Amino acid sequence: MPFPVEKIRADFPVLNQQVHDKPLVYLDNAATTQKPVQVINRLSDYYLKENSNVHRGVHLLSQKATEDYEKARTTIAQYINAADSKEIIFTRGTTESVNLLATVLEEWIQPGDAILVSAMEHHSNLVPWQQLCKRRNADLKIVPVNDKGELDLEFLKKKLNPQVKLVAVNHISNVLGTINPVKEIVKMAHDAGVPVLIDGAQALAHTKVDVQEIGADFYAFSGHKVYAPMGIGVLYGRETWMRRLPPYQFGGEMIDRVSFDEVTFNELPYKYEAGTPNVGGALALESALQYVQNLGIEAIRKHEDVLLEKATHQLMKINGMRIIGEAKDKTAVLSFLVDGVHPYDLGTLLDQMGVAVRTGYHCAEPLMQHMGISGTVRASFALYNTEQEVDIFTESVLKAVNMLR
Ligand code: PMP
Repeated sequence: MPFPVEKIRADFPVLNQQVHDKPLVYLDNAATTQKPVQVINRLSDYYLKENSNVHRGVHLLSQKATEDYEKARTTIAQYINAADSKEIIFTRGTTESVNLLATVLEEWIQPGDAILVSAMEHHSNLVPWQQLCKRRNADLKIVPVNDKGELDLEFLKKKLNPQVKLVAVNHISNVLGTINPVKEIVKMAHDAGVPVLIDGAQALAHTKVDVQEIGADFYAFSGHKVYAPMGIGVLYGRETWMRRLPPYQFGGEMIDRVSFDEVTFNELPYKYEAGTPNVGGALALESALQYVQNLGIEAIRKHEDVLLEKATHQLMKINGMRIIGEAKDKTAVLSFLVDGVHPYDLGTLLDQMGVAVRTGYHCAEPLMQHMGISGTVRASFALYNTEQEVDIFTESVLKAVNMLR
């Protein structure tokens, strides 16, 4: 059955508009995805009919909000196949999930220890570890990336030793589109007794995520990159870890008993959810994952791979084109440079033609240094993009390049 992309587009009213008098071609999905009406309605229904604070109320609305919030947690746990819903901690997004972990792992890192990250990390899965290493007099070691944009697994293997206290890598690179062999990485790290955090910010929208199959100890992601609103995300943390790690923030909800002198902390996951949570966001994230599930992540991936392949093939015909990121296992992200053309100029002209792409470092400045480039143009695809949009995109790139040369 062909992928029902036209039907899907009707669920995303924002796509149906003109920018600079041209039909919008939205190819900035790695930065944030658009939201379907089902998700927007879930959020507005919550505020129109249910809004109430969770967990502390005796009244009906509060009980309903609590029930729905916890149901969302269960749905999300099942979606990523967590062993228990208490392993799902709601956060603001990937950045907060990583910072949470970097805060609570403080005591786990001793002077002389090391943390391994890859050279293709987003700043949010790099700077928290860099700063933690500085605070603890530990070493941050960088796993190199080859010219194709693939991780050097031999290097990783060689560097794993008892001094290494964490491996933190992304599942899919937001710059290169590389799908990292996370299961293999976890196996290697676990064989050396090292826990692993996977930054799944780019993964949920494009590939199946099964945290138990991957074996990850921690897995972070953002709702807004998988058709949910901004301001909601998840840190999956294996129960055995989260039970023994200290709390992140202090306040309401995360406590069990409090006196002026002492406190005992709440059980998981509430120990990590101080204060009023983003209830509406959690319900909308549940709805977004159900939306993806209804279409089927394999069918989505197949559709996006067709777009990626077609776009790559067409761009390659342009003189001086250089694709950044040619990993064997790759999805949904197409970074490129054109000889003699500045990415910013190209991005600006594409915008004039209605095509929304992103230019620059993509929050991965060290990767750019590592690859000896000063930025890229990045087109990134989502389930609602069409082959016709790919044609408009590649024709626009050709037109813009000819104008700029
Ligand atoms: N990691 C990766 C791989 C990303 O692509 C992003 C967002 N661009 C992040 C982390 C940070 O996500 P957020 O800004 O939603 O916290």
